[in-house]
Amino acid sequence: MLFERQIFLVAGLSRSGVSAAQYLVSKGAQVYLYDDVDDENVRAAQSTLSELGCIPVTKADLEEKSGRCDVLVLSPGIPVDHPLPVSFRRAGKRIIGEAELGALALACPCIAVTGTNGKTTTVTMLEGIFKAAGKKAIACGNVGRPLTACLSELGTDGVAIAEISSFQLETLYSLRPHVAVVLNVTEDHLNRHYTLENYIYLKSRILKNSAESEYAVLNYDDPIVRGFAEKTKAKVVWFSLKERVAGGYVADGYFCYQGERVCPEEDLSVDGNHNRMNALAALCAAKLFGVPNGAIAAGLKSFRGVRHRLQNVGELGGVTFIDDSKATNVDSAVQAISSVKGESVLLLGGKDKGYSYEPLFDAIKNSGVVHAVIYGENAFRILSAALKRGYTAVTLCRPFDMAVRVAYLTAKRGQNVLLSPASASFDAFKSYEERGERFVEMLSVLKRESLQAQREEEPIEEGEGDEAEELE
Ligand code: ADP
Repeated sequence: MLFERQIFLVAGLSRSGVSAAQYLVSKGAQVYLYDDVDDENVRAAQSTLSELGCIPVTKADLEEKSGRCDVLVLSPGIPVDHPLPVSFRRAGKRIIGEAELGALALACPCIAVTGTNGKTTTVTMLEGIFKAAGKKAIACGNVGRPLTACLSELGTDGVAIAEISSFQLETLYSLRPHVAVVLNVTEDHLNRHYTLENYIYLKSRILKNSAESEYAVLNYDDPIVRGFAEKTKAKVVWFSLKERVAGGYVADGYFCYQGERVCPEEDLSVDGNHNRMNALAALCAAKLFGVPNGAIAAGLKSFRGVRHRLQNVGELGGVTFIDDSKATNVDSAVQAISSVKGESVLLLGGKDKGYSYEPLFDAIKNSGVVHAVIYGENAFRILSAALKRGYTAVTLCRPFDMAVRVAYLTAKRGQNVLLSPASASFDAFKSYEERGERFVEMLSVLKRESLQAQREEEPIEEGEGDEAEELE
């Protein structure tokens, strides 16, 4: 790309947009900045980037200024059918994402991980495994650190462990990972990608540049992902919890790879079959990079889970609170209810993403969920799915704070309150992180109230009342 000769418009000034603009400036490009939103964060980003020479564009100037630009760097948060990318496409101009800039410049080997669920968990596990092997590896991409921000640290001898979402895949063309991992594909983001077929197609694009010398680590147990084997030239390495495949599997209490025992299953310190699958995928990628078994075992042992993913956040009155706010689709919530031990009152709801909630209630009927408290913008869609599947142990309750309160009052001693909402958070929160934080705050509120109630119930000792009167 001829950075000095081309004018870029960076649209969407979140973390990856800021990093893209910084990278482009460092390459001598002229950079315009735009965001539909005008809030504190965007203004702070504009001011930092203006100091580097970038030029913020207002909504009023957008048409004129964007006409001068050659390339649009589109944030993954902005859909490709937004009027701005549509105008670039009509003019025959290039539209890329920040990850594409990173992919074009990447000078070290890369493991790219995609899938509907488990990406962050898997790239975090992999980073731990590579670090245990003494390798310079960075979990980057959708996990938080943009690819362009890691380039100099990675150099030529690092390993980029890139989490790649379907939103990024819309504008990513050049990534050619040494190992591409596809964890699973289930219904998600249909409000953005419209059809499941389109979503599957986008996920399959992670493999499109792979040659015979590269590897595709694929989930054998997922029928959609299994089909990806036919769409790639890469050598396929499977992982499965059901069969002894050519790749990673479980046998006699061990994680195994191609007929060899790698480490005991109990080395993995997090629960759930979904996490065993994530560990198998990580193990396959690590083995393909020649990581020794000892480092794989050490990496899995030291993995403590990631915040807002089935995280035990405390207890009140014998009721355990579990934050799985990142369960933003049906399959992740299904995994949660099948892996959480004991009985749970489940908190469900938020922003709708266009899929059916009925499979969730089929799973709930055979699980430890004793009651569902439904809140959020999509509450009636979820309620209707529950009733269609004959599940009636539900309370509809809004807003979120009240729903957490009701879930706690519904749970009996020894049970859990499980926030695994199967929905996005944007109806009431900025992000799933903010929703998870609010859940934890509500636990603190309930703890304070319970302490207060205990104090009020305690009998007043003789003389104490008189003292209080004296003080007044
Ligand atoms: P992603 O980065 O793909 O969103 P995360 O690792 O952040 O995935 O996990 C998101 C949610 O999905 C969490 O609720 C987590 O418990 C659940 N989850 C993690 N791994 C899997 C998996 N392999 N299959 C289904 N659900 C999963």
